[in-house]
Amino acid sequence: MQWDKDAEQAVGKIPFFVRQRVKKRVEAEAQQSGGARVTMAHVAACQQRYLHHQEEEVKGFCLEACFGQNGCPNRIDTGENLAGRLETLLGTHNLKEFMQSRVSGPLKLHHKFRLTMADCPNSCSRPQIVDIGLISAALPKLTETACSGCGSCLNACREEAITLAGPEAAPQFNWQRCLACGQCARACPTATIAQGCTGYRILLGGKLGRHPQLGQELSGIFSAETTLAIVDACLAHFKAENKKGERFGELLNRTGVTFLAPYTILPPR
Ligand code: SF4
Ligand code: SF4
Ligand code: SF4
Repeated sequence: MQWDKDAEQAVGKIPFFVRQRVKKRVEAEAQQSGGARVTMAHVAACQQRYLHHQEEEVKGFCLEACFGQNGCPNRIDTGENLAGRLETLLGTHNLKEFMQSRVSGPLKLHHKFRLTMADCPNSCSRPQIVDIGLISAALPKLTETACSGCGSCLNACREEAITLAGPEAAPQFNWQRCLACGQCARACPTATIAQGCTGYRILLGGKLGRHPQLGQELSGIFSAETTLAIVDACLAHFKAENKKGERFGELLNRTGVTFLAPYTILPPR
């Protein structure tokens, strides 16, 4: 659909990680009103609906992702449809009804449980400042193929997590530094380093607002199944312990994360 320049500029000021979603809504608004182009009137109509009918817009949760699926070369493909499964899981927790039971007065747009996915550690979608943040991870592993000593993996690793003891020696990984970005496996021309396990890093309880804090990262990398189980347990805990509409991060500051079972972590190699 074609956009008028001023409408496009107005939407261009919206933070990039929600811009696509807002654009779709404005285009839907234009289609519903029979417009052939998107104009400022459609942008303003959407804005008014947000401001004056917030409760209808609120669905109790918000699931966002980075633009990795749109062809970003850094994207780690875990081979899982985790976003779809998370959306279903979030839907089963009736979070809108829950929020209504905890908040006095009508729900506002910020009354929602926020879960954000990033397809690599660059974290463009800012998973550190939401209730649950997930970062796709790909651990490197060594294969039987001999290293040529070309140094491409050293150049690819921004964390300085790889060392080469000598021209013929196999590379060594520093697992404390490795962010499981997968770049060394992509860079290795001999496939001495290959992609190992893929999964997700999990951050809990991040938020902005009056008392901002970054999410606490659980130790390790988790499979899709375990990630779903952890998200499920977090939502159940949120609903069981939330007395007056507090954010998940505030709640965790009170309760800690001991409610989580000792979930299986993927091995480092
Ligand atoms: S987080 Fe990574 S995969 Fe996602 S858009 Fe940013 S760089 Fe690309
Ligand atoms: S996966 Fe780890 S070792 Fe490899 S480039 Fe990324 S941070 Fe470095
Ligand atoms: S990129 Fe591969 S072949 Fe080159 S030094 Fe690293 S492990 Fe060896």
